[in-house]
Amino acid sequence: MIRKLITRLFSSSKRAPALGKRMEASGRSLGIDPARLPDSALTVVRNLQQAGFEAYIVGGAVRDLLLGLKPKDFDVATNATPEQVKPLFRRALLIGRRFRIVHVLFGREVIEVSTFRASPDAAAATVDGDERSRDKLAGRQHAVDPSGRVLRDNVWGSQDEDAARRDFTVNALYYDPTRDMVVDYHHGLRDLKARTLRMIGEPAQRYREDPVRLLRVARFAAKLGFDIAPGTLHPIASQCELLRNVPAARLFDETIKLLQTGHALASLDNLRRLRLHSGLLPLLDLALSQPRGEAFVLAALGDTDARIASGKTASPSFLFACLLWPQVGQRWEELQAEGVPQIAALDQAADEVLAAQSERLAIQRRIASDVREIWGLQPRLARRSARYAQGVLEHPRFRAAFDFLLLRARTGEALAELAEWWQAFQDGDEEQRSALLEQAARGGTGDATRKRRRRRRKPAAADDSAQGPATDGD
Ligand code: ATP
Ligand code: MG
Repeated sequence: MIRKLITRLFSSSKRAPALGKRMEASGRSLGIDPARLPDSALTVVRNLQQAGFEAYIVGGAVRDLLLGLKPKDFDVATNATPEQVKPLFRRALLIGRRFRIVHVLFGREVIEVSTFRASPDAAAATVDGDERSRDKLAGRQHAVDPSGRVLRDNVWGSQDEDAARRDFTVNALYYDPTRDMVVDYHHGLRDLKARTLRMIGEPAQRYREDPVRLLRVARFAAKLGFDIAPGTLHPIASQCELLRNVPAARLFDETIKLLQTGHALASLDNLRRLRLHSGLLPLLDLALSQPRGEAFVLAALGDTDARIASGKTASPSFLFACLLWPQVGQRWEELQAEGVPQIAALDQAADEVLAAQSERLAIQRRIASDVREIWGLQPRLARRSARYAQGVLEHPRFRAAFDFLLLRARTGEALAELAEWWQAFQDGDEEQRSALLEQAARGGTGDATRKRRRRRRKPAAADDSAQGPATDGD
């Protein structure tokens, strides 16, 4: 038994990622201006340091500051355990099981504080007899599944161990604003300068530990415009199967990050280039293989990127409604052709597609219900009857449903006139709205922006008779 344990420790210690050599550089000399850091992050670091702990801004924020980009959010790494961190702040929450951290809240802003962690193998190999090592060996804080995927990751460690278990060299930089010092264990600064995305340690093993890192390669290469180091790139082709093993909820989180951080199109290109898109996200896979799907999905992702570039947010519901629409739309047509009434056919198509999808990628229930509403409003938008139009306009999902209609119209579904009608209906005063309703009731279309008086002189039927009110092209 003991022999077995020693053999295991010995073999795993060989796999433990090498700890990097600590290098330090002045933040100012690298272009970081501490005055531009948010008070929230500075407060968290200072409170921890004043309580006698080490504390650094870490990861994406340091990388982005060094690249002159505006960090999306600020994370802090410390040698204090979550239980030690929490009482230092008035509003702080202990979060997570698989990965226990503290959220420190400043209004709506959240600073995520994580305790330095050791890598799985380093933890098993560190047999120095102290209390924490015994905890590690007892396996209480760390767990892997048979394929090597990490299920729980709460083994505390030192800063160099923490750096070694991060994903890319450029994501493993630490910044201490008090001493204006950047700490780098894995030549992250060198890779940042060379604009190279490089996995820390042995890439194939790192992908096995956490297959989501495969998606992260595509995302960061797109976001940063970096080249992927050859050693990081090569194992990907033979490892994409690993993604099948990732729980649906985790895949959902990482997919949202991939699609919603302003670089969705470029990330998708990378996924295709890396041959990760096919079989990986059934959602994308199917959407892109539908006859009308590709144009629609690409337009949706392009719009999302543009929204984020202009400082707006993009709702996951809208995005998922778009990504799944090619399948839903096609199934809706099929069911109607089989004689199922329009609304029932849409409901059934939605049920089928959402159920099939959630086996691989768990779409949160709240989002799924918004997605349904966006779809469900499409035939209601096509109706334009006096009875329903005002209600549709006041529906909480109207804006999203209308944007969705515009996208459908733009990508070839025969809906341009309907979209114009709704634009005019939204913009119109009471008189214009009733004129529009009247005109829709007559089955005519015409220039919806014209005043009633003028249209009376010119019969609407003469304007354009190509599309009746219920022609929604589906
Ligand atoms: P972004 O600005 O897009 O949020 P980020 O680098 O902050 O980029 P996050 O997903 O927020 O990315 O992760 C924060 C940090 O946590 C990363 O920089 C990296 O150091 C570490 N990290 C996150 N996910 C993983 C992972 N799957 N494996 C290893 N390290 C990870
Ligand atoms: Mg981040």
